[in-house]
Amino acid sequence: MIRVHRGPEPAELVKVRITQLKALRDIVRREKRDPLSDEIDGYRIVAKTLWKAQLHKCCYCEKLIEHVRNDVEHYRPKAQANRGEHHLADHGYWWLAFTWENLLFSCENCNQGKAKGIKFPLSEGGAPLVAEQQPSRGERPLLLDPAVECGVEHIQFQIDPLTKKWKPFARKGSAKGYATIRTCLLDRDDLLDLYTKHVNGEVRPEVDQVEAALAQKDVVKIDSAVRRANQKLLRPSKPFVGLSYDALQHFVQSSDMLFWGCAWHSTA
Ligand SMILES: [Zn+2]
Repeated sequence: MIRVHRGPEPAELVKVRITQLKALRDIVRREKRDPLSDEIDGYRIVAKTLWKAQLHKCCYCEKLIEHVRNDVEHYRPKAQANRGEHHLADHGYWWLAFTWENLLFSCENCNQGKAKGIKFPLSEGGAPLVAEQQPSRGERPLLLDPAVECGVEHIQFQIDPLTKKWKPFARKGSAKGYATIRTCLLDRDDLLDLYTKHVNGEVRPEVDQVEAALAQKDVVKIDSAVRRANQKLLRPSKPFVGLSYDALQHFVQSSDMLFWGCAWHSTA
């Protein structure tokens, strides 16, 4: 999971937000209840913009999605939220349903069903936002926000000693890494197969090139092989960049001495 960059807010979202929020506020005032999921609509107009901005990848699992989905992921769930064992409040964040900074593009396996759905875990002691409140540090979300944080710093891929498949773990015990893996099911079976296939088919050939250059102690060839691996595996548009980074570190003997591109840290 690497950092994503949305770019500027599309003008059409501003228009939708004005009309839709007015309708939702009318419901709250008139019926003294929060809006229901199917009453919160209109945000899907930015699905394609987000898909392109995120370089056609799911913001959580980094799988390439070849066709735009007509759906949008709400980082803070729109109608109802399960904040974990320390929090009873289950209201959603309807007033942020049209807020650009709350919208992401994700695959359906990460954001629906048993995966993220309405889950939005908070730290013990975090204070859930109340209606109309803007995000604040006091809420203390445990789910990594891909537009703000770099998942590579919190999630580490390693070979599971039992299954021999590549699998994500919390890096250095990161609570956010652990919660994000659990929330989006980043260790689900279908992904473990894809991770392992990616390492064997895409990463290993690059590792072989780098290792061959290292064995020859040829500085020019080493530089060229590392450049090639960075281009092929670690550009933000490539699938599973976080996984590739850890696999390169794992396989290449002198990894500490080499530069593995950190393009996902860019703030551009
Ligand atoms: Zn996904």
